[in-house]
Amino acid sequence: MALILDGNRVRDQIKAECGPRVERVVAHAGRPPGLAVILAGHDPASQIYVRGKTKTAGDLGIYNETIAPPDSATTEEILAIVHELNARAEIDGILVQLPLPENVDSQRVLLAVSPEKDVDGFHPCNVGLLSTGRAGLRPCTPSGVIQLLKRYSIPMAGKRAVVAGRSDIVGKPMAILLLQENATVTICHSRTRDLPAVCQEADILVAAIGRAAMITAEYIRPGAVVIDVGQSRIESRVEAERIFGPARLADFDKRGSLLVGDVDPRDMARVSSAYTPVPGGVGPLTIAMLMSNTIESAERRTGLC
Ligand code: NAP
Repeated sequence: MALILDGNRVRDQIKAECGPRVERVVAHAGRPPGLAVILAGHDPASQIYVRGKTKTAGDLGIYNETIAPPDSATTEEILAIVHELNARAEIDGILVQLPLPENVDSQRVLLAVSPEKDVDGFHPCNVGLLSTGRAGLRPCTPSGVIQLLKRYSIPMAGKRAVVAGRSDIVGKPMAILLLQENATVTICHSRTRDLPAVCQEADILVAAIGRAAMITAEYIRPGAVVIDVGQSRIESRVEAERIFGPARLADFDKRGSLLVGDVDPRDMARVSSAYTPVPGGVGPLTIAMLMSNTIESAERRTGLC
């Protein structure tokens, strides 16, 4: 029986550790850590994500505010908001919720966020600090995966790790973080030749490609640890039955859709030694790491570390 790597459990551990860290910042600086979220436009998914983030921040005693410029906001107007937040002492973390409205230059906005407040870890300065192994804010999803592996005592040093996906927010930082844990890392992408054979080499396989259940048994070395970062929503009943079998059809009928990862869930449970389920694996860790990054920024900015 494969071990299920429970992201909700690890999220709760990380959140429990955040409480005393917030109290330490308050005792030292006379104020809590502060997080500002820029939520431009009316993307319904973004609104749900931001509510999740600000609610968690509030629960942990992190000061938070959401700035919601209208759909019509220009790049210059959003840049002005970023500059103001950069200058405010009580704001430790700035999060620009993507996507921004089409007329806004997202790259310019993201580059304007002060690297010391870049709690998403996307700024090129933080990417540079990451790749040279220096202290800095790390992207939340891949650093959550490292926390999960560590807290389940899954060894990384000397292991063969294969990361499928090379995005700036997941694949690349994931590969660098695994390298820093002394894994031997291969990065794959859409041009990789014979992806199943490369993935088969992995002791630790991280799938971050965004293709529903594409990674099947032929990609997974028996006994490998499989981390499924992918999150796709399937809305076809036939697809739901093909991927999950009859077991989750009642669930599909109730919701009209199901969340699925990049890895075939039944193959993953059958072939791996340990795996992250979708949902309940990697997903819950991202917000927890965002909170941890906000507190880390406050700790650094107030001289606590
Ligand atoms: P992305 O920017 O679209 O990148 C996808 C990567 O996968 C690209 O490097 C692409 O290769 C590669 N790829 C696509 N199709 C492939 C194929 N058939 N074979 C091999 N490689 C392929 O996606 P992302 O932002 O990294 O996100 C990936 C997945 O993780 C998505 O499902 C997303 O929803 C999920 N995600 C989850 C969380 C979470 O909190 N759980 C957070 C972030 C993302 P090329 O570079 O060659 O195009």
